[in-house]
Amino acid sequence: MIVTRFAPSPTGELHLGHASAALVAHAEARRGGGRFLLRIEDIDAGRCRAEFAAAILNDLAWLGLDWDGEVRRQSEHFDDYCAALARLDGEGLLYPCFCSRKDIAAAGQAPHGPDGPLYPGLCRDLSPGERSERIAAGRPYALRLDMAAATARAGRLEWLDRTVGTIAARPDLFGDVVLARKDTPTSYHLAVTVDDARQGVTLVTRGDDLFAATHVHRLLQALLGLPTPAYAHHRLLLDDHGRRLAKRDGATTLAALRRAGRTPAEVRAMAGQKEGPDGKPSGPGIRHQGMLEGSVDHGIIPGSR
Ligand SMILES: [Zn+2]
Repeated sequence: MIVTRFAPSPTGELHLGHASAALVAHAEARRGGGRFLLRIEDIDAGRCRAEFAAAILNDLAWLGLDWDGEVRRQSEHFDDYCAALARLDGEGLLYPCFCSRKDIAAAGQAPHGPDGPLYPGLCRDLSPGERSERIAAGRPYALRLDMAAATARAGRLEWLDRTVGTIAARPDLFGDVVLARKDTPTSYHLAVTVDDARQGVTLVTRGDDLFAATHVHRLLQALLGLPTPAYAHHRLLLDDHGRRLAKRDGATTLAALRRAGRTPAEVRAMAGQKEGPDGKPSGPGIRHQGMLEGSVDHGIIPGSR
């Protein structure tokens, strides 16, 4: 059975771009008689707010999107992330990094990965003694994945993007990613990977801004013994000027459109979805024009499409 999810962060109000993503996931699930799940990605306590989480549920219901089962809130599942971290740590794949941004900048020009400059590895080779000394002294640290060791452990990996084809996983493009920080016991990459498995998600639909992140998620699945869902990365909704919609565009929030008298059907149409004959949003029309830019870096296997 197909299981999809919509997983917004409650750091603001939903806008048309979110509506588009939610409609895609909902249509994919409903078309096959599957399940559509909702997850609130609220690990960032500094930026997430309960009233935004409540507004998300409200907006989705207004749009006519019904979800199945309990809403999963990441902030209630830190035990799951800690267990995953402990497993990786037990296999010697993590190390504490004490670097500040300044330390990393001072290390000189580093090549860029999909998330920004690659970590230059300053703390990778600290001795166990140096590590425990710094930790005992109360130095803040992040836990990084030793990417070379992790990719050696996992071997060659692939994942399927339903639109593009089979992709050779290239998590090495990200370098030694941070998987946890002192104040947050998980990163986006770790939480999403664990959550998708816990929720039994079989098809991850999401914007193609997260296409590259899938390389890391595929690696974490392999290291943690988790199943690999299929993926369908869709194009982001753009505004009239060709820019991706962002929270700064207050006028496009669903709440603002509702106040302006727009109906759910109108908003669904604006979000790129059409109603089918049964009155439900029809096929999402996942497009991939534009997604192949930089496809070499994304590790697409030639001829696999
Ligand atoms: Zn460091």
